Amino acid sequence: MIDFELSPEALKAQERVRTICENVFRKISRKYDENEHSEMPELHELAEELKGEGGLRGGMNRDFLTNVIVTEELSWGDLGLTLAWPEGGLGNAAINAVATPEQKARFGKATASMAITEPGCGSDTSNITTTAKLDPETNEWIINGEKIFITGGKTYDNVVVWATLDRSLGRAAIKSFVVEKGAPGRELVKLEHKLGIRSSDTVAMVFNDCRIPYENILGSPEIKTRGGFKGAMATFDATRPGVAAMGIGVARAALDFTKETLEKEGITIPYDKGMHDLSAVQKAVLDMEAELEAARLLTWRAATMLNKGVRNSLEASMGKAKAGRMATLVTQRCVEILGPCGYSRDWLVEKWMRDCKITDIFEGTGQIQMLIIARQILGYTRAELK
Ligand SMILES: Cc1cc2nc3c(=O)[nH]c(=O)nc-3n(C[C@H](O)[C@H](O)[C@H](O)COP(=O)(O)OP(=O)(O)OC[C@H]3O[C@@H](n4cnc5c(N)ncnc54)[C@H](O)[C@@H]3O)c2cc1C
Repeated sequence: MIDFELSPEALKAQERVRTICENVFRKISRKYDENEHSEMPELHELAEELKGEGGLRGGMNRDFLTNVIVTEELSWGDLGLTLAWPEGGLGNAAINAVATPEQKARFGKATASMAITEPGCGSDTSNITTTAKLDPETNEWIINGEKIFITGGKTYDNVVVWATLDRSLGRAAIKSFVVEKGAPGRELVKLEHKLGIRSSDTVAMVFNDCRIPYENILGSPEIKTRGGFKGAMATFDATRPGVAAMGIGVARAALDFTKETLEKEGITIPYDKGMHDLSAVQKAVLDMEAELEAARLLTWRAATMLNKGVRNSLEASMGKAKAGRMATLVTQRCVEILGPCGYSRDWLVEKWMRDCKITDIFEGTGQIQMLIIARQILGYTRAELK
């Protein structure tokens, strides 16, 4: 049986992050939404201050459920700032999930972004064209290709790049490589302007004969024609619960604000009445709370399975599919219910509606999660259901 009782460490971290969000994140939330791509000294000062406590994310050793809880809390504060947080990004989660102890020791302290998407390849990662070739003389990998939409590619040091060792061998030949800051041939070529999460940078990079040490490959260089891609995909099992938690955090922010605003107008939410005694707005809020809780439970289940070392691909996709869709719908409904307060830039609800959409897009869109879930439940292969 899965037990969701939170550890004292998780509860303490949750409370600590909540206070920080109220005192710092919420206060600078609008400023850095309006001033996209500007430096954020408050964030760096806070990160420096928290170093003594092991940082907000508690380094690489915290359990997955606590990470998910902390991520929900941070995202309740501000998702853009969460994604820009100076302790690292999705690349760190990938390194944490699949790196050897030696690699964890080498890369563990550096921040890392994740580069999978290319101009001609998004959802279907088997179309990756970026190549990695081994130079037998120097024992270095030579990376060539273009990656787009890299979250934190400007802020973070290293970037985990997905590249193919041999395009003719399809998905099995796709491996991930850590390309360190300053690697020759690595170049940032574009900063995106975005709908939401505007305080977090999103960049395009090119790799032009970019040379990295042999030891920077994550996992084995061996190309296994059966199941070879599973290692690379396993990083998603670790990162998708985190992305789901982001959506849950933003949805909760919108719902909390909506309930507080309604309460000021004398509309409270009763938990002990039948449907026929509820107003339309009360029912809408109760429905949204139920949806949010369902997404959270699915996400916590996926994280708890990771803690136990149990394969959670199906559950991670379920949590992400549910949370991304729930957050999109809940934030839109909150904007709707609040009318002008929802639409005005005087409040943050319109921003939360823009910010949360990304949780239904990156790390695999909602539609792709549904495909993964359907394949696993119905027993279809990728070729049979695409
Ligand atoms: C702000 C932002 C940050 C990002 N950060 C990162 C990052 O850090 N690293 C990274 O590598 N990428 C990142 N991405 C890219 C993101 O992961 C991709 O946009 C996403 O995977 C979808 O790929 P695509 O845009 O090429 O869409 P496509 O794959 O072209 O899909 C377009 C639409 O078709 C749907 N679709 C595609 N195939 C199917 C199918 N078989 N069945 C049903 N529907 C389907 C999709 O769900 C989507 O709605 C980011 C994107 C954004 C916007």
